[in-house]
Amino acid sequence: MIRKDVIDLFRVAPGKKFRLKDHNPGWKQEGFEDFGKDAVKERAEEVLARSLADLAAAQELLYADGRQSVLLVFQAMDAAGKDGTIKHVMSGVNPQGCQVFSFKKPSAEDLAHNFLWRYTKCLPERGRIGIFNRSYYEDVLVVKVHPELLGRNAPRDGDKVGKKFWEGRYEDINAFERHLARNGTVVLKFFLNVSKDEQKRRFLERLDRPEKNWKFSPSDLAERGYWDDYMRAYEDAIAATSTDAAPWYVVPADYKWVTRAVVADVVTTTIRGLDLAYPEVSPEQKKLLAEARKKLDAE
Ligand code: ATP
Ligand code: MG
Repeated sequence: MIRKDVIDLFRVAPGKKFRLKDHNPGWKQEGFEDFGKDAVKERAEEVLARSLADLAAAQELLYADGRQSVLLVFQAMDAAGKDGTIKHVMSGVNPQGCQVFSFKKPSAEDLAHNFLWRYTKCLPERGRIGIFNRSYYEDVLVVKVHPELLGRNAPRDGDKVGKKFWEGRYEDINAFERHLARNGTVVLKFFLNVSKDEQKRRFLERLDRPEKNWKFSPSDLAERGYWDDYMRAYEDAIAATSTDAAPWYVVPADYKWVTRAVVADVVTTTIRGLDLAYPEVSPEQKKLLAEARKKLDAE
């Protein structure tokens, strides 16, 4: 995979028409099929391994530079591989340099605030990579599919929960992300695009294999019943919120090794493209270092 190509291939161009059906969940790099399925996989693993080493170096520089942070947002249907992708992609990174937050159903305290409140508390500090396993996008995804979840966040004054309401939320999200970008947080958003067939296969595997049983929850099956509603919600949300400040990447997710290689590539390439530098050592600091050396040598 060639980096620039990968980025362009999966990045949702801001302002352009976006259709989920133009994105193939079963995509894998072409050109290696002749060597058989394993060869493609091996090649992706090779790319991933290289990307992970590069990412570790990029993250160190981000930390040393200390002026910017990176926020990775992961959204997907159940069993699309969010957890595994986060685990693999971040495996090479210094744990002190990254923070992972998983967002579940909001608490009563969360619901007593504006919908972005609970997420703002978890934003990454400068020099760090923050990971959102689910995010404020749930508030225009699961909540759009099940508007009864709005609770006290429903619009005031008896307004309907209609198009205008959701467009207001997309606008809020875009403004929030623009605010983050202006303040030195690079936002990258990943939709792990798994097909309905592959989700079924993975659910069955969770039922068949005792060591995977714990991963299955009957509510996952219930949400699968709303598949088309979710896809519409994703399509609308991605179309409305892929911006230059915070682009969406629609990552093929039927092959886990493809997902991991693509995400690692996008993250690494983005961090490397930032204007980062190791802090310069001033003449005074150099003097102090020289004195320290003298003292140590004299011991
Ligand atoms: P896994 O199933 O792999 O453990 P998960 O992210 O699916 O990971 P769950 O505990 O199964 O974790 O699900 C979290 C649930 O919380 C999801 O159904 C999600 O839609 C829901 N949720 C997350 N954010 C919100 C929100 N803002 N409002 C309502 N529900 C939310
Ligand atoms: Mg789940």
